[in-house]
Amino acid sequence: MDEKKKELFYEPKNGYDLMDAAERLACEDYCRGYMAYLDAARTEREAVRKAVKLAEAAGFVSDDGLTGPIQPGQKVYHVNRGKSLLLAVGGKKPMSEGFVVEAAHVDAPRLDLKQRPLFEESEMGYLRTHYYGGVKKYQWTAIPLELHGVAALKDGSVADIVIGRDPGDPQFVITDLLPHLAADQMQKTMAKGVEGEKLCVLAGSVPYAGEGKDRVKLAVMSLLNDRYGITEEDLISAELEVVPAFDVRELGLDRSLIGGYGQDDRVCAYAQLAAIMGLETPERTAVCILADKEEIGSVGVSGMRSQAFERFVEKLIGGTCSVQESFSNSFCLSADVTAAFDPMYPEVSEKQNAARINYGVGLCKFTGSRGKSGSSDASAEVVAYVRRICAEAGVVWQMCELGKVDQGGGGTVAQFMADRDIDTLDAGVPVLSMHAPFETTSKFDCYMTYKCMKAAYEAK
Ligand code: MN
Ligand code: MN
Repeated sequence: MDEKKKELFYEPKNGYDLMDAAERLACEDYCRGYMAYLDAARTEREAVRKAVKLAEAAGFVSDDGLTGPIQPGQKVYHVNRGKSLLLAVGGKKPMSEGFVVEAAHVDAPRLDLKQRPLFEESEMGYLRTHYYGGVKKYQWTAIPLELHGVAALKDGSVADIVIGRDPGDPQFVITDLLPHLAADQMQKTMAKGVEGEKLCVLAGSVPYAGEGKDRVKLAVMSLLNDRYGITEEDLISAELEVVPAFDVRELGLDRSLIGGYGQDDRVCAYAQLAAIMGLETPERTAVCILADKEEIGSVGVSGMRSQAFERFVEKLIGGTCSVQESFSNSFCLSADVTAAFDPMYPEVSEKQNAARINYGVGLCKFTGSRGKSGSSDASAEVVAYVRRICAEAGVVWQMCELGKVDQGGGGTVAQFMADRDIDTLDAGVPVLSMHAPFETTSKFDCYMTYKCMKAAYEAK
């Protein structure tokens, strides 16, 4: 009977029972690179900038000079408005036979400063925020925060602003009530306990010398002016993101886990990037996208729904076929994280189909919610294709779905790639505490996601 079970049943295995010593070293090595990237990429702009640096070191050049179709082995990149990155490595086959595209996103939940953020209340200076993406607001109080972004000035120049990353820099905080006085607050639901308009960042407390009102506000503005030459009106055309100040760290006594902010979805962005940077000349042209705006619906000029993708592909094709013909023969891995089964909250998952920590890259046939709504629902043939390339490349993978039926759900860029007539499957790293200021992944799963991305690019 045991033999019959072995022959007929499918039983996923813990990755640590499958890895040899050499692979463990390769896994550690890969994760070191990922952790350094994550630490340096606190915003979508920084994630793109850092990725360009790595890509240039790996031989990629701007697509500005690209005329005619991309040549086998040619490596180009295009930055879309500083917030999204497209890279390609020319394949042996022409673009009419399709390409392999991997799409991750580099935006992450955060608190954006409002356009008129600065105010003073009871001689304390504050910055008002409007949260971006799905956050549990209470998680953003009483933790160290940093400010990253830009202020675009009327003269066309752009001031880069980073406060809190340098060890000598001050940081910020959003205060919360002490438990002694929180009797009323504690009666509220977690959704209402901390309200959006209360997420104001404490920015200073020393008044400007002199008489009159708004002296602390003036002192804070004056410090910003000293450091960046900006005025209050300049903040109107600024994009300043309040992000957690936590360093990326190994977690657990065995150091098997990674803790850090923004792993959704920079963990998959880095996996794709590392995979495409290692390519010589693949069979089909390899395309890597680090998209923006996924957390608010993949909208806007830098989101995955933007025609900027068509424009880039058109350039790679160089007039040899239509974009639509190329799309219809292409394959996409939508590389986004999935929810890892949390033993502390088993009730939200259906264990047999939930992603498990250390069981490898999570493949999702569908995402969405309420009866797969908002999902591209990959075909059986596409799933079989990915099973095959993973098997050939020794990728440890698991099939999973995000939460039990009708518990909630979530989407990715997959549907927007499938809308373009590109066969698409979701694949990514299972994450604990997704969308929290400090998210947790497993090194093994990060490494296997990289191997999966590599296998898809290198598929014959
Ligand atoms: Mn995501
Ligand atoms: Mn997300």
